[in-house]
Amino acid sequence: MALRGTNISRHIYNASFAELGDTLADWGERQYRVLQLWHGLYRDQCASFEELTTLSFRLRRQLQENFQLSSLRSTDTLSSKNKETTKYLFVTESGERFETVLMHYDKRKTACISTQSGCAMGCVFCATGQMGFVQNLTSGEIVEQVITLARQLKQAGNKLTNIVVMGMGEPFHNYDATMKAMDILIHRQGFNFGARRITISTVGLIPMIERFTRERRRNMLAVSLHAATQDLREKIVPISARYPLIPLMEACRNYIEQSGRRITFEWALINDLNDGMDQAQALVKLVEGMLCHINLIPLNPTAGYGMLGSPQIKAKEFRDYLISKGLSSTLRIRRGIDIQAGCGQLAAANQPNG
Ligand code: SAH
Ligand code: SF4
Repeated sequence: MALRGTNISRHIYNASFAELGDTLADWGERQYRVLQLWHGLYRDQCASFEELTTLSFRLRRQLQENFQLSSLRSTDTLSSKNKETTKYLFVTESGERFETVLMHYDKRKTACISTQSGCAMGCVFCATGQMGFVQNLTSGEIVEQVITLARQLKQAGNKLTNIVVMGMGEPFHNYDATMKAMDILIHRQGFNFGARRITISTVGLIPMIERFTRERRRNMLAVSLHAATQDLREKIVPISARYPLIPLMEACRNYIEQSGRRITFEWALINDLNDGMDQAQALVKLVEGMLCHINLIPLNPTAGYGMLGSPQIKAKEFRDYLISKGLSSTLRIRRGIDIQAGCGQLAAANQPNG
């Protein structure tokens, strides 16, 4: 039986609640069935159609014939020595590789998910950027990362508390699939994940920040800044030539004003490059009066970039300066380094030829 609409693939996590409703209506099913199906997929996180026992045998069979529940193959799982970080290497049906990371610390269980295999933005310090662009992930592939981790946590009596869209790829370069996945994950009748517990990190694609603002998206927004002057930023974040700092900050200010939310600015501290007081001062000026938080992280060195992360003492000085000027700022420690699960270190080492 044909599925209505061309944008629903066989992968069931690609389908929105409304799309599944249309399909079940076409099959002559009553409307409450879609709710039962949705509960099974997202509340119960069933791992197979057979587990959807609230549905009739016939409907389960029909689902099985028309859809597939899983489209990702997990090829490897690595845990850091202290067990705080687990990295999953996935392969899509078309053979593209990407990674998802689960971080457990404090009481938080955070999934760091990918939106693309590779990335077209070319940030010089980033292992994913060094790979170049491979493929966009579908919304279903984005959703499945979260459900796979949530299911595993559930089996161990735990729950996912946060999602950061900070894995491989630039989410705003795959905006539609990313936002469709977010809508599925926050759907109240299903997975019901708090929109504010999801943070989307972008390198600063201005038109998409504007769209995110216009659409009144309720997820949290992070912008990867890394430099507070145009010439330095262009050197490390090449896309900045196309989307320069001044209009970028304008778009950020507008987002804050429209949404009433704060923005997090990400800053990887690179030794002797962007960790000096000149950059700290320029940053204070740049974000003057903005409702924001500055997240500092010493660079995780990558094979394709010769620079090192700032030593602790300089990183702390940088943070302390920002705080002394009234900014909110935290210095994150690097986690998962031994399994290359630090930000921006994902998947590149696991390429077929890598
Ligand atoms: N493309 C998006 C999200 C994925 S990258 C973005 O750039 O924001 C997630 C974060 O990791 C970004 O802030 C990115 O700049 C940072 N990052 C990338 N490589 C890194 C590295 N080697 N060390 C520290 N942070 C890195
Ligand atoms: Fe892409 Fe983000 Fe890496 Fe830049 S930092 S190359 S935008 S994944």
